[in-house]
Order: sequence, then structure tokens, then C-alpha cells
Amino acid sequence: METTELTVDRLANLSTGESGVITKVLGHGAFRKRITEMGFVKGKKVRVIKNAPLQDPVEYEIMGYNVSLRRSEANLIDVLSGAEADSQKLNGFNGIISDNVLKKTAHEKSKTINVALVGNPNCGKTSFFNQASGSHERVGNYGGVTIDAKMARMRQDGYLINITDLPGTYSITEYTPEELYVRSHIMERMPDVVVNVVDASNLERNLFLTTQLIDMNIKVVIALNMYDELEKKGARLKFRELGEMLGIPIIPTVAVKGQGIKNLMRKVIDVYEDRDPIVRYVNINYGHDIEKSIDVLRKELDKDDRLVDKYSSRYLAVKLLENDRTTRSMLKNRDNFDRINELTNREIARLEKAFGESSETVITDAKYGFVAGALNETYVESRERKRQRSKEIDYFITHKILGFPIFLFAMWLMFQATFTLGNYPMEWIDAGVGYIGDFVGSHMAAGPLKDLLVDGVIGGVGGVIVFLPNILILFFFISFMEDTGYMARVSFIMDRLMHKIGLHGKSFIPLIMGFGCNVPAVMATRTLENRKDRILTMMITPFMSCSARLPVYVLIISAFFPKNQGLMLFSIYMIGIIMAIVVALVLKNTVFRKAVVPFVMELPPYRMPTLRNTSIHMWHKGVQYLKKMGGVILVASILIWALSYFPRHVDYSKNYDASIAQVENSTSLGEAQKQHQVSQLEMAKASEHQEQSYIGRMGHALAPVLKPLGFDWKIGVAILTGLAAKEIVVSTMGILYQAQDEGNSGTLVQKLQQQTHTSGKLKGQKVFTPLVAFGFMLFVLIYFPCVAVIAAIKKEANWKWAVFMMVYTTAIAWVVSFATYQIGSLFV
Ligand code: GDP
Ligand code: MG
Repeated sequence: METTELTVDRLANLSTGESGVITKVLGHGAFRKRITEMGFVKGKKVRVIKNAPLQDPVEYEIMGYNVSLRRSEANLIDVLSGAEADSQKLNGFNGIISDNVLKKTAHEKSKTINVALVGNPNCGKTSFFNQASGSHERVGNYGGVTIDAKMARMRQDGYLINITDLPGTYSITEYTPEELYVRSHIMERMPDVVVNVVDASNLERNLFLTTQLIDMNIKVVIALNMYDELEKKGARLKFRELGEMLGIPIIPTVAVKGQGIKNLMRKVIDVYEDRDPIVRYVNINYGHDIEKSIDVLRKELDKDDRLVDKYSSRYLAVKLLENDRTTRSMLKNRDNFDRINELTNREIARLEKAFGESSETVITDAKYGFVAGALNETYVESRERKRQRSKEIDYFITHKILGFPIFLFAMWLMFQATFTLGNYPMEWIDAGVGYIGDFVGSHMAAGPLKDLLVDGVIGGVGGVIVFLPNILILFFFISFMEDTGYMARVSFIMDRLMHKIGLHGKSFIPLIMGFGCNVPAVMATRTLENRKDRILTMMITPFMSCSARLPVYVLIISAFFPKNQGLMLFSIYMIGIIMAIVVALVLKNTVFRKAVVPFVMELPPYRMPTLRNTSIHMWHKGVQYLKKMGGVILVASILIWALSYFPRHVDYSKNYDASIAQVENSTSLGEAQKQHQVSQLEMAKASEHQEQSYIGRMGHALAPVLKPLGFDWKIGVAILTGLAAKEIVVSTMGILYQAQDEGNSGTLVQKLQQQTHTSGKLKGQKVFTPLVAFGFMLFVLIYFPCVAVIAAIKKEANWKWAVFMMVYTTAIAWVVSFATYQIGSLFV
């Protein structure tokens, strides 16, 4: 039986009835993961249930289950089986080859690792190859010595390692025959592990090639070669950290002396066996323009399963955007090629228009930005060289100490501009909304429909739309800072601080956006790689007090804290930030406990963006806000209006209509006095109606819960309406506290100051003491962000998190206001 021939073949080539033992799964990350989850792992026996030449999918039995695989999938699985002639024996009842022998042989076969050496010319690949294999290829101190691939084999720790020395290339594109050769070797021959030989004395250029390997989503180990030269120069590289960021293990080597080669091969074995903890797939972030194009193309590419089993769709998308002809021609006979081609052209045109440069240059720049970011954190140059780089701006902007004041200044400038510049258009819009309301009011017959339009729709949405200019200006600044490359630096300097609360520097941008509107902020968390980071960031975003809450603070502060207005406002924002930190720390130590995975923060080149492009980015963010207005806020305004409008008939405490008629017919009063009294009566009537309306009843129902906070039922109603959008809190208070003119906070301020409790122990006392007012602002700051944010969280995370957000923020708001009121009462 020893003479029976055992061969390794692709699973797809086995015919019906044959079995084999899996020795290897090829293909890239996502495919491997899926296929292993189905049970196709090394050492497992597979039997072909049905496989005819043209049949697709093919049916297999593995671990007692029947599964079908596409032929293209089965083509990526290596199996060991008896030669064709012996297939009967192999599977027969008295099979000559026992399963044990087969498994043992399969085990040995699976201990064969195919390794390819990839690297820049002159980085020491051939030296490495010779040392590893004991062969004597020519090494030379000039490029292009290795023209085609050399193969050699070595043994280590029970593994047979086939090493291929590939020609040196600076990049894996299609400009030279060497590049194409390397590329097709990696893509078609699919080595188990690629050893990326990197010249440590020239990291920036060498790691560029590494970024292309990262895109390919294959198994890589980096040989940090010429490590002796790096040390000689007096430079230092924290290569372990760098490896963790890249998701690629890095081993220092001195190839000419054979140092580090054993270590490196040990690492290759670990990576091959999937037992190296560092290995993971890192997304190089190309910035939102390119990422958007990548998404568009991936969506189309992902439709073709056979394609994406073999190649990472992200890699293909990047290649297409680089205008890579080889990739295009490779896709030529795909069913959806026309569509892919069309989308590619469209996206390239879009990118080139936005950047004014070829899309390839833009992607190359982004890759260098990734490398620069990675090295900035891990590479310490020798003193003399530090200064002579073109990175002088970055020296200041990402400086450990100087970076912060520069950043604070930028933030101050942004908020300042947002509010000063925003005031003018805000007034125009306010006037416009008022005009539309008046127009509709005077041109429609009285009745519920008119009330709905004027008070519900125009009043509700109009009250919110006035903030649009501020928000657009804020988004313009944020987009500008992103487009110039400054935001990337901000993430960079914030990273260390953010790590302390379990987040990354990158989470900082969504948080800053949160000051404008939490909805786009929640959406901006998409740029974070890791799901846990995304969710944690979403969970604390609402504590960044959004611009919708500002009118509430302005109202309350001008009513009750006239002396320290600025300070009070600042303290509310600060409390929000502190809350965010506390919550992040709690979540980090409970729900989100995890090992911190470091990753590269790109430092893209500084660019002066075009006004057009920045405006487009501003607009994209603004649209999300507008959608909120057209959707959720519109519906909520109507709902709230209806709840306070119905039921129409309530029992008034006195006959207001009669009193009004009496005043109007009175002869003893002057015209001005008459009007004053009439409007007083009308407001009293409206207020009473409000109290007995559905929402008033809800406010009353809520009152017992709010009593320990010092709030009355009207505050309860305001809080209820704020669920839709915090802006509505002010307009609700306007109605409830009978201010004649919502826009004129002067009258509302006075009314608020005069409010007294109408029932209970506190009857007759002022409702709003400074303590209650402060507690109320805190409550508005913390509780339920708004319907639109919850909807955004549901979309970005899931229902569970959306519900969690509603419950926990409201609970914290209650506790904080409770503590403020109860503890404060002891001292006042
Ligand atoms: P290849 O083009 O990548 O195949 O690189 P070679 O193996 O031909 O090496 C290029 C040059 O670098 C040769 O002169 C080698 O002697 C030298 N070299 C290779 N590895 C090292 C190393 O680790 N340290 C130093 N100092 N020189 C090296
Ligand atoms: Mg060579």
C-alpha cells in the first residue's frame, strides 16, 4: 500500500465518489474565513457526492454534512487524494489506504509552505534567498539583477519551505515587466505567505510597496532588512508597534550575515498556521472621496462571487480607480463588465475633477500619507536628519505641546465664525419663515388645516431651519480642515488622549461634528475601522451639545443667569464633554472591554482644496441635516401640534369667549387697553387649552416622575416635545408660558421668571429657581438626543444600540438633574 500514489490536487478536480484530505485553503481573507467556517479546514476529509464536468455548484460531504461549493471555490482548495485509479480502493469498504495514512500524508503535505520574496530592487532579497536556501545567486548593488524567479527550498521546524525570489519592484502596478511578473505571481500562483523584504535605511519608499500588499489582503511577513544600517545611522524604529499597526509581523534581519532569517521563517510558519496574533487586515483609509468611489465599485464587483473569492474586491476597486489596464482586461469577460467599466470611468472623472490631478496620483499620495503616519509614530530619525525634511509644518502641528494651542485656536475660530457669520442669514431666514407664516395665515380660511400649516408645519420646521446657516458654516469649516489634511493631524495629536478613554484619535472628528449636529456625527463614525470603536463613539456623541440645544440654553441663561452668561454656557458644554469621558470610561471597562489594536493614522499631504470641492463636502453633510428636517422633524412637529391641538373641546374654568366679547364691547376702555386685555384673555384660554390637550395630560402624567427634579408639568411637556428635536423645546415653552411672540425671548424670559407652582406643596412658589433652571439645562443636554439621532444609530449600528441610547441617556439625565436639585437644595 505504500506504493499507492498520493497526489495533491485541487478539490474541483476530484470526480464523483472520490475523497481527499484538505491540505490547504488558498484565496484571500474573506473567502478563507467563510470556507473555514463551513468546515473546510486542513486535515478534514471531503468526499465528492456529485461532480460532472459542467456541473456548478459541486456537491461535497464534509464532517457528515452535505454542502455545495461553486467550482471556483473548490478550485481554491488543495486536497490530497489517491491517484485516479485507486479512487475505488480509497473509498471502498476495505480500502487499501487507511484514513490514517491519508491523514498523516495530508498533514505532511500541508507542512509545505510556498513563500515569495517581494521587495524593492536592492533591498537584499537575493542575499536573503541565498542565506536561507544555501544557494549562490548573484547579488549586486544595483537594480535589475534578478530578472526572473529563482526557486529554492529549505527545511525548518518540520516544514518544507519553497522560496521564490522575485524581481525587485518599487510598486506592484503595470509599468514594467518586473511589476507585472510579481503581480501575476502573487495573484495567480498564490504563495501561502509573501515575505516583503524592506530596506530599513529607506523605509518610506519601501513601505509604499507594502501598502499595495496590504490592499491585496494576503498573508505577509516583513523582513526588516539592512537593520545594521539603520542602527549605524543612529535611527530607531519601534518595529513591533509598526507591525501591529500594519497588521503584519516585522522581523529585523541582516541578510548578508544571515541574521534574523531563522526568526523570520519561524514567523512565516506562525502566519501560515494562522497563529500569529498581529496578523489582521488593515484598511488603508484613502479619504472620503476615494473611499466613496471604492464603495461604489465594490458594490458592483461584489455581485460576482467567483471574482471576489479569489481577489479582494477592495483591491480590485483601488486598482480600477488607479486606471489600471491589467485589472480592466482581467475583468473583461465578466458579465457585468460594462457596468464596472462605466462606473470606473465615472468615478475616475469625479475624482480627477475634485482633485485636479490624475486619480492614480491621488491614491499614491494617500498611500504615502499612510506610510508617513505610520512612521511618524514609530520612527525616530537620528538627530542630524530630523530637521532637513520637508515636514516642517508637521513638526509644529503634530508637536506634543504646540499642537494643542494651534488646535484650540482653530476650534475657536471655527465656532466664532459659525455664530457671527451665521447670524445674518439666520435673521433673513427667520424673517422669511415669519413672512410665509403670515401669508398662509392671512390667505387661508380659519380651521384645523390652517392651524396645522401655520403652527404645526411652518412654525415647527421653520423654527429649526433657522439654524441651517450656522450648521452649514460649521460643516464648511470641518470639510475645509479635512480637505487640507489638518483634521488628520488633529486626530494624530488627540490620539494619545483619546486612548485614555478607550478611543482613537479618529473618533475625535465625529465628536467635533457633534457640536454642530449629532446626526452627521453619528454617520461620520463610519471612518473608524473597528465596530467597537464606532459604537463607542456613537454612544458618547450625543454628549457633544449640538446646536439645536443652544436656543434652550440661551433662553434659560438669559432668564436666570444674567450675570455669568458666557461662563454658564461654557460650563454646560464642558459638563457634556466630562459626561462623555465618564461614559466612555465606564463602557470601555464593561461592554467594550477589548485589547487595543493600534492602527496607522494617515498623514496625507497638505493640499489647498478647491472651494468647489469643499462646498460639495459641506453640502453632503448638510443634506443629512436637511433630511432630518424634511422627515423626522416634520412628522414630529405635526404630531406635537396635533397632541396639543386636540381635543378641541375642553372645559374651561371660565367662559373666555364671553369675557372677550365683554371687553370688546366695553365703552369705558381705550383701544390699546382693550387689545391688551383681549390678548391676555386669549392667552389664558390657550394656556388652559394646552393644559387639557393630550400633550398637557401627558405632561401631567409625567409630573410625579419629574417632581424630585423640581420640574412642573409644563417642563414635562417641553421635555416630551424635545424628543423630536431639541429646538422644539423652546417653541413649546413659548406656547406653554404664554409668550405672545416666540421669537422675542424678552417676554418669554419674564414669563419664565414669574412662573409659580399651581399645585402641591410648593404651590405659589417660583418654579424656576437658578437651581431648577440649571438642572433643566443639564437634563436637556443629556437626555434622549432626538429622534433623528436614534434613527441614525439604528442605521449605523442596530436597534439594540438605538434602544440602549434612548434609555441610558434619559436615565443619566434624570439622575444628574435629581442630584443637582437635591444636593443643591441643601445649600441654597
Ligand atoms: P536584491 O536586489 O533585493 O536582490 O538585493 P541584493 O541581495 O542583490 O543586495 C543588494 C546589496 O545590499 C548587496 O550589496 C548586498 O550585499 C547588500 N545587502 C543585502 N542585505 C544587507 C543587509 O542586511 N545589510 C547590509 N549592510 N547590506 C546588505
Ligand atoms: Mg536580487
